[in-house]
Amino acid sequence: MDFDFTKEQQDIRKAAREFAEKEFSEVGRECDINEEFPFDVWKKACELGLIGCFIPEEYGGAGYGVTEHCCIMEKFWRVDPGCGQCMSSATMGAEVIEMFGAEDQKRAYLTPLVLGKQLMGIAITEPDSGSDALSASTIATRDGDDYIMKGHKTFITNGDIGNFLVVFCVTNPEEKGHRDRFSMIIVETDRAGYESNKLVDKLGIRASNTSEVWFNDVRVPCKNLVGKEGFGAKYLMEFFNRTRIMVAAAGVGLAQGAMEKAIRHIKERQQFGKPLAEFQVNRFKIAEMGTMIEAARNLTYKAATMVDKGIIDPGQVAMAKWFAAWVAVRSADEALQMHGGYGYFGDYDISRFYRDAKVLEIYEGAKEIEKELVAKSLLKRQF
Ligand SMILES: Cc1cc2nc3c(=O)[nH]c(=O)nc-3n(C[C@H](O)[C@H](O)[C@H](O)COP(=O)(O)OP(=O)(O)OC[C@H]3O[C@@H](n4cnc5c(N)ncnc54)[C@H](O)[C@@H]3O)c2cc1C
Repeated sequence: MDFDFTKEQQDIRKAAREFAEKEFSEVGRECDINEEFPFDVWKKACELGLIGCFIPEEYGGAGYGVTEHCCIMEKFWRVDPGCGQCMSSATMGAEVIEMFGAEDQKRAYLTPLVLGKQLMGIAITEPDSGSDALSASTIATRDGDDYIMKGHKTFITNGDIGNFLVVFCVTNPEEKGHRDRFSMIIVETDRAGYESNKLVDKLGIRASNTSEVWFNDVRVPCKNLVGKEGFGAKYLMEFFNRTRIMVAAAGVGLAQGAMEKAIRHIKERQQFGKPLAEFQVNRFKIAEMGTMIEAARNLTYKAATMVDKGIIDPGQVAMAKWFAAWVAVRSADEALQMHGGYGYFGDYDISRFYRDAKVLEIYEGAKEIEKELVAKSLLKRQF
């Protein structure tokens, strides 16, 4: 039994599934081995309107909500998490521009993303500022009509191949209370003083580009400020309240893909004179996996539909994020176990799912941070 999707959402899920099955299956393994972004596939996905579907129609998108975006990402990650990550991160940070940007910023930066002409990213994390994002020290200092940006960010998706980044930085250093200290500024990566270094040898989602980036006195016009100066921390939380649900959808997709691989394998593989699927231990594993996936899917789409209705509940979002990520890691682990030694080698793809899953418990708020948010929300609730 699937979640209660509308007819349109079911059609979107079908289109995304068909696209992924056709396009990712061929390139997924190779892009993982070579740590290469699948540019051709990304362009095809853009042509079909599968990238940046949440971008309003006037800027070239479909104007869909978080729910539809999750539908696409779930189906992408089910087939190939590496390609799924590349597609989901192609517009990473666009939510900030879409929600808080000026009209001319939306036209200039959002439209090229849906047309497959540009890639972007969001730069929050720094070497000494990870989970504690509000300790970021990258600073943008006013100089006439410009900002001069100085700082060092790390683990930035698309930092080395993106055309621009939304950068979380200090603009009001005198504000000690953190909340008013930060802003979001768009930085084109061809500006003088921008430097990047691709980080290699990642455990998983290796097709996705992850980089260290430096802002060596990068001069950026003040018109690149998104929204209001000093509102960066607020915008960041709003961003996470949407994108963490996307990570949850990715987890559901990965777990579903892993379970389907396990089912296929245990039906075919015979030991002790019968298929592995006839051993109760494996049947129970499938039962547990399927139940956890269904629970994660329901949590994910509950959080998504709430946001689409304008109900922002960080506790609900965090619940979906940590749980779906945990289900993905557990499912990939059990699915690999059911493949035995065969699963340990690349030919069966399940080893890739196993490697790819872990990042879901780390980025966009590590699971411990998400559980803190859930606890905070529950502890203040009146029962
Ligand atoms: C592949 C990949 C892509 C990424 N892409 C981006 C990107 O595009 N943009 C970007 O800005 N960042 C990106 N990140 C960075 C990611 O968001 C951070 O890695 C994450 O926020 C955790 O920060 P950290 O790595 O510094 O770990 P730390 O903050 O050092 O945490 C280490 C561990 O300690 C735990 N911990 C920390 N504080 C607490 C606490 N208060 N209570 C309990 N436990 C705690 C954490 O949960 C974690 O398990 C990416 C990371 C990866 C791996």
